[in-house]
Amino acid sequence: MTRFWKGLLTALFAAAMTASVAAPARADTWAPPSNLVTPLNQVWQHVESTYGDLYGFRNYGWDQVFANRGYLNFCVRWDSPQPVTAQQRDAVHAQLARQYEKWTDVMAGHNGFPYASVPIKVVGWAVRDRNQLKWTDNSVDIYVNDIRENAPQCSEGCGRFFNRNGTYPRCPGGVARHYDQSLWLTAGMGGGAGGDWGQRIGSEYYMNNLNSSDVHILLHEIGHTFGLDDFYDWTPSGVGGFLMKAGSASVITEFDKWMFRDWWRHLKNRYGF
Ligand SMILES: [Zn+2]
Repeated sequence: MTRFWKGLLTALFAAAMTASVAAPARADTWAPPSNLVTPLNQVWQHVESTYGDLYGFRNYGWDQVFANRGYLNFCVRWDSPQPVTAQQRDAVHAQLARQYEKWTDVMAGHNGFPYASVPIKVVGWAVRDRNQLKWTDNSVDIYVNDIRENAPQCSEGCGRFFNRNGTYPRCPGGVARHYDQSLWLTAGMGGGAGGDWGQRIGSEYYMNNLNSSDVHILLHEIGHTFGLDDFYDWTPSGVGGFLMKAGSASVITEFDKWMFRDWWRHLKNRYGF
């Protein structure tokens, strides 16, 4: 359940940022349950004291949603020798959208967040061998044997991780076929990893949970994509199990929801809110 976006990104980050548009201050409707105020403050203080570039970093999931004005595009990195049918392809997409919605629903109508929903589109699949993909339609772009980190990837010219200015001149399909994140499914992997680049989990785990209501490792890793931290060595006061404390919960808890909203509270001024 590693959060390794900080290390990965240091080298790649472009410093140039557009200044956010000045907007009149709006009412902050931050109102967590009283029993969560202290632990939430502890978490944010911990984030502020341990994240190296907390307020300078500009590729959190939040930044991606706002760059697109309300949607996210994905590449599936199929890091497995197994075949995939069209039906499985569509089920992979549908489950990703359902899991993402569990997080984005937390924001709908909350504290000025402007999007009632954040559509999830899978625009590409990356594989080692085209014959693994048992479909012939062109509903997604297919990338064959483009290997990075010993795994198939979609074209770097189409990936936000490699193109921070929001234009994709080296992507054949342009902005419409760019991808913000990768859903990286690796055969034989236990646990997972998450960051601004996407989420990585076991392919067997994901395919065995296409109809599960809560794919908890994926949910945890999506949390990292939006900045949420791990809790390996400490626990905030007065809270029990929660999703971001790996192994202690298998659903998004009320505490997880408020930690997520706290990220919005602290970042929203960069989007003019
Ligand atoms: Zn983690």
